[in-house]
Amino acid sequence: MGDKSKKLCQGKDTFERMNFLYQAASQIIPKSKALSCYYGAQCKLISKKSLQRMEPEMKRTICKQCGLMLRPGVSAELSIQDEHRDDVNSCLIKCNKCNATKRYVVNPKYNGWLDAQESVAEVLKPNETTDKKQ
Ligand SMILES: [Zn+2]
Repeated sequence: MGDKSKKLCQGKDTFERMNFLYQAASQIIPKSKALSCYYGAQCKLISKKSLQRMEPEMKRTICKQCGLMLRPGVSAELSIQDEHRDDVNSCLIKCNKCNATKRYVVNPKYNGWLDAQESVAEVLKPNETTDKKQ
């Protein structure tokens, strides 16, 4: 019974822990930025150590240096820059704590791999992951 659930979703415990830390980091920002840094850094560390990849949109909201949850207007500054190239703008996010910056190219024509239908290998339903006594 236990083996079946492991096969269906490998690293489920790790994903659940990362999910909890990410949510805790995003909820604790108004009260304690230091604690948010700690939770964000732990989330990244668990991902790195267990070799489980973090969702790119999740990863982009955590500061690369200090681990602070980057929320524009609260803990980060967001600016759009014109790159003087063909229709290419970039989004610059600056952490308010450590002043680290992240730059992302904003291209409406580009679709990431995870947004494409071909990237979905299997969809797990909640009923399949639970252990049934048979
Ligand atoms: Zn930072």
